Amino acid sequence: MVSSGTGSDLQAIKTTAKKQGNSYVINGQKTFITNGQAADLVIVVARTGAPGAKGISLIVVETAGAEGYRRGRNLDKIGLHASDTSELFFDNVTVPPENLLGNEEGSGFVQLMQQLPQERLSLAIGAVASMERAVKITADYTKQRTAFGKPLIEFQNTAFTLAERKTEAMIARVFVDWCVERLVAGDLDTVTASMAKWWCSQKQVETADECLQLHGGYGYMQEYPISRMFIDSRIQKIYGGTNEIMKVLIARSL
Ligand SMILES: Cc1cc2nc3c(=O)[nH]c(=O)nc-3n(C[C@H](O)[C@H](O)[C@H](O)COP(=O)(O)OP(=O)(O)OC[C@H]3O[C@@H](n4cnc5c(N)ncnc54)[C@H](O)[C@@H]3O)c2cc1C
Repeated sequence: MVSSGTGSDLQAIKTTAKKQGNSYVINGQKTFITNGQAADLVIVVARTGAPGAKGISLIVVETAGAEGYRRGRNLDKIGLHASDTSELFFDNVTVPPENLLGNEEGSGFVQLMQQLPQERLSLAIGAVASMERAVKITADYTKQRTAFGKPLIEFQNTAFTLAERKTEAMIARVFVDWCVERLVAGDLDTVTASMAKWWCSQKQVETADECLQLHGGYGYMQEYPISRMFIDSRIQKIYGGTNEIMKVLIARSL
């Protein structure tokens, strides 16, 4: 969970979970939490120890009836309206010590690093599916809409744009399929997952933009699915770790 004011810099997390007697007492706030309005079991990234990565732990909170727990606003996003994105507040929320995820305090950062490649790959998979669909619906649309007496797809610009985007979607799929195999084998590393996340999401946004362009003015209308694909794609470059952070991680391997 992203802490308000922390974001990309995970090690600077401000939410605390302090041991008091036989409990953890959690204080802090989180923002941009997907499905926060509905969630009744949340995993909180909290500081249980000294500054830096080694002081971070993951604590599970059952939110139903938890004293001091409060949901904030369902934030007003430009897209992705099918899921809520919320603020969560923790004001002396008390949980038993067995709610610590794992065996020891201070394992949270390592646990996150172990699981993030899977999350990033899942975003890349969504990106590939979105690219493929954008190309398909745009090919269908440009076959039936005419201008200057012929279907749009017969203009070389239209056909070449779709040919390029179809090629990129195929390249993305092959790479992502290979990443899935590595994940299943248990050896998908952070650098490779970061490559998949940034490149596929970047290509998804470019594809949605170009496919919308090929629809002309109708692409800007909500009743045409490409408009929603355009709006919803934009967040892919930001969440799950921004694409700049992905490049920082990849650059460390150079
Ligand atoms: C719709 C939505 C849903 C989300 N769902 C969740 C969720 O369920 N759980 C969760 O934990 N988080 C969630 N997030 C949070 C998301 O992961 C963060 O927004 C994202 O990691 C970026 O953090 P930030 O918004 O604080 O941006 P900042 O960290 O403030 O970054 C701002 C800009 O600075 C750049 N930047 C920062 N550091 C560096 C650097 N070292 N080098 C180069 N550039 C840098 C960033 O790339 C970005 O362009 C969600 C966000 C949104 C918008």
